[in-house]
Amino acid sequence: MIEISGLTKSFHHNMVLDHIDLTIKRGDVVAVIGSSGAGKSTLLRAINLLEVPDAGTIRIDELIVNTAKKTKKEVIELRKSTAMVFQQFNLFRQKTALENVMEGLIVVKKLPKEEARKIAHLQLAKVGLSDRVNHYPKQLSGGQQQRVAIARALAMQPKILLFDEPTSALDPELVGEVLDTIKKTAEEGNTMLLVSHEMNFVRKVATRVIFLDQGRIVEDGTPQEVFSHPKSERTKQFLANYY
Ligand code: ATP
Ligand code: MG
Repeated sequence: MIEISGLTKSFHHNMVLDHIDLTIKRGDVVAVIGSSGAGKSTLLRAINLLEVPDAGTIRIDELIVNTAKKTKKEVIELRKSTAMVFQQFNLFRQKTALENVMEGLIVVKKLPKEEARKIAHLQLAKVGLSDRVNHYPKQLSGGQQQRVAIARALAMQPKILLFDEPTSALDPELVGEVLDTIKKTAEEGNTMLLVSHEMNFVRKVATRVIFLDQGRIVEDGTPQEVFSHPKSERTKQFLANYY
């Protein structure tokens, strides 16, 4: 179980996360929606401490991190429990697809190279890239690169997968293959927190939808509840731009 409480972050005098409380159960697929600047990326980045929160606690199963008093060891443990997939893929350019997936297994998980290689082959097969393992990022399409990034995240067996607009940098014809991969990942029971503007996809795949506005959760419910019966005016306005 993931339990976030009082998560707060300001940039200068701009409060971007305003005491966020959020509990995510194992197997939940939580979609975060909201306008540009609402704090969606900051929330994801704060959960794995890529962005250092001003206050709040993050609990992942037995690991409890008070973000204001975190130790180095806790940061490492938290990063091991989470894996992020970025809009811009963030692959190592000088490494092949296989080496990209192996990297974290060797450096972070300290697995022997051969074991890491085995896992990397398996994960790349799962995202349909068995025939691309020795390709470098620049030899892959955007959709293929993003599937490598998903394989890399899955290989780490995180407690939660964080996706930040994983399809918004892709050409339209490549969006489908990445969404299919994410859907499959969700169906396998992975716990996920996903920022997405693909409302039809969110409706189909998310078990829960959160609407973030000015750093606060103003709506939280099933896709049916949030999309068909939004409670707040802000959510209604936001959704009106999509339908
Ligand atoms: P988008 O849909 O455009 O990706 P978002 O909901 O992900 O938006 P964030 O990237 O979390 O929004 O940004 C929230 C607010 O925090 C914005 O006003 C942004 O300008 C500000 N912000 C984010 N990162 C920083 C930073 N490193 N320094 C200063 N301000 C920042
Ligand atoms: Mg963002």
